[in-house]
Amino acid sequence: MCLSEAIRVNISLLVFLPILAWLIGSGAQIELYAGFVGALAGTELDVVRLQAGATPWLVGTLAALGLFVSVTLHELGHSWAAMRYDLEVESITLWILGGLASFKQFPREWNREFWIAVAGPATSILVGAVLYAALLVLPASATVTLFVVGWLAVTNLLLAGFNMLPAFPMDGGRVLRALLARNRPYATATRIAARIGTSFAILFAVFGVLSLSPLLLLLALFIYGAASGESRTVALSDLLEGLTVGDVAQPTARTIEATATVEELVDRMFADRSTEFTVTQNGHVVGVVTVADFRELSKAEREADTVADLVVTDLPRLPAEMSAFDALAELDTNRASAALVESPEGTHVVSREDFSSAMEMRRMLGDSGPF
Ligand SMILES: [Zn+2]
Repeated sequence: MCLSEAIRVNISLLVFLPILAWLIGSGAQIELYAGFVGALAGTELDVVRLQAGATPWLVGTLAALGLFVSVTLHELGHSWAAMRYDLEVESITLWILGGLASFKQFPREWNREFWIAVAGPATSILVGAVLYAALLVLPASATVTLFVVGWLAVTNLLLAGFNMLPAFPMDGGRVLRALLARNRPYATATRIAARIGTSFAILFAVFGVLSLSPLLLLLALFIYGAASGESRTVALSDLLEGLTVGDVAQPTARTIEATATVEELVDRMFADRSTEFTVTQNGHVVGVVTVADFRELSKAEREADTVADLVVTDLPRLPAEMSAFDALAELDTNRASAALVESPEGTHVVSREDFSSAMEMRRMLGDSGPF
């Protein structure tokens, strides 16, 4: 897959970039940064010239575009590292506070996660350094270019520093989890990193309210949501630990022949108090049928149609020895409600309900027994 196809721009960035251009264009930012950028470049920037006429708007637009490119480069840094480990990058979403690279599967080996997480901020530092070098060689008369390049150099360093805060799931938090996971179970490492992440979220929220900064509040919400989401995923994997998808699937699930009419299926569902049936054809499991598959049908259609007309057969096929957690992830990626589990003894169906009841059993019984 070509990377450029997978880059998505979040609406927040589209809103934020014009605001940034306006913030700079309205002048206050120029005064704030001109002295600093001048000191970096070793010359004095002509603030009057920067603020004359439409120049602030030009500076604002260039800076906003530059920030957009910087965030993209940061994310491409992560993706480059991920691709070196042969991890497929599904998409990259760019939003105000950086980007989010989404991988088909997140690496659980601590060193991979470490290098992938570090690659983004490292890229930003590199970009910052290159811009700083450019600052030193640009002629002092190129006021606008000097200002924009200097502002971007500083912003890239801020981007790196900010993302390295150990606020999971930001890059720094992932680095922290990777380091914690070196000598701890992955789930424990995640729990600790997520707890630190949530503390940061609360801290950001308090500062956000005190400084009336909507950006900080947004970040707090994002970190809070993502940190607890990631903990939940790991808690899920804990509950399914040691189970294979074969353990979760119910071999005694209710079955119905594909030749039965829908009317007969409805009767069976009532009789068995089950909304989900495994469909067999000549003794072989071919798929599943659920209440949702015929809810829309009229009485006449239910009498005329057979289960074969409704059965969902394009289900993911999973080997029975696959771990239950991976199987659940497989259901999520395929947006499937069930999968076919294949073992030497035959084919069974595993549904989301089977996963939830397996986890419920685990919660109640602890680790004793297969569940
Ligand atoms: Zn990053």
